[in-house]
Amino acid sequence: MNKRVLIVEDNPQNMKLLLMTLRPHGYDLLQAVDGEQALEVAIKSNPDLIIMDIQIPKMDGLEVTRRLRQMPAFNQVPIVAVTAYAMKGDREKVIRAGCDAYLPKPINTRQLPGLISGMLKPKPNTNGDGDGR
Ligand code: MN
Repeated sequence: MNKRVLIVEDNPQNMKLLLMTLRPHGYDLLQAVDGEQALEVAIKSNPDLIIMDIQIPKMDGLEVTRRLRQMPAFNQVPIVAVTAYAMKGDREKVIRAGCDAYLPKPINTRQLPGLISGMLKPKPNTNGDGDGR
């Protein structure tokens, strides 16, 4: 079964770029354009990974991440933060909110697929047995 990736991004151009970058890799891609929709879609469709723009309407990506992390179902789901404000301190802020990785904009479309596939690999210290290895 394809891995499900939820892309949270309010800018249509960036959304298009992310979709075009990830589509060839065989993921089921879900979309959300603001913080409330991000929560809704995440809860409804249980993505395997979330790409989270931080600057989004209604509720910012940090708050969405904090709320997701409070739910048992979203304890372990990798969340990759994306932000245009590549300022010192940003990384600490997104990690503290519960994100696993941080990508500054503009998005490096060559680097992204490898990062995503790496984060979707089962962690060695989990005791799940789902992939048959
Ligand atoms: Mn944005």
